[in-house]
Amino acid sequence: MPEATDADLQKLLELQAEDSAIKRLNERRESLPEAARLAELQAQLAELNSDLAIATKRNEEINREYSRFEGEIELVEQKIKREEERMFSGNVSNPKELGSLQAEVASLRKKQAGLEDELLEVMEQREGSSDTVVSLTSERDSIAQESERLTETVKQLTSDIDAELATHTEQRTTIETGIPADLLKLYDTIRSQKQGVGAAALEGGTCQGCHTRLPQSELERIKQEGGLQRCDNCRRILITV
Ligand SMILES: [Zn+2]
Repeated sequence: MPEATDADLQKLLELQAEDSAIKRLNERRESLPEAARLAELQAQLAELNSDLAIATKRNEEINREYSRFEGEIELVEQKIKREEERMFSGNVSNPKELGSLQAEVASLRKKQAGLEDELLEVMEQREGSSDTVVSLTSERDSIAQESERLTETVKQLTSDIDAELATHTEQRTTIETGIPADLLKLYDTIRSQKQGVGAAALEGGTCQGCHTRLPQSELERIKQEGGLQRCDNCRRILITV
């Protein structure tokens, strides 16, 4: 067991305080509820963006279909106009030819009516799909805004924690330089095995590392011997305060 003066041991306890603070801050940094919420929002955002891409594509398809029907109707209308002009021009006098022109116009009007019905249907679809795009866009924008705000919050919280971490790390370095190397090595070994606590205060007869009350005889022995002592129960370095 390394030799240790009371001053060394007190420094070790100070070092433990810094290490515990650093551990707490790191844990806090890794488990910010705001960061968890942000991850949720970002997943939602990705999903909404993908839904929106699909809805936009569908909307474009419907718009193309709408234009196609409009174009077809326009062509049929032009054809009807031409045939009617021929009918009423006076140039066609053959009754058979006139009859066939009339039949042609009637058939074209029927086609036009059919196309117009289809156009109406596409129009309704177009409205529905454009409503979907609008509502998805608004939902996406509002989540994007919330996510942006939360990103700032997480950044701020993280940078506050980092500032605290920097302070404690600096203090740790200062304290560490004043502790004998072999004592420090033992402390670090125990600390890595015991959930980050290598040195515990002996306070009111109780080890603050494992919260076990030491027997009176043991307490007396520790007091008498002084120097480096370890808890019989958790094996941490015990420091009387
Ligand atoms: Zn203990």
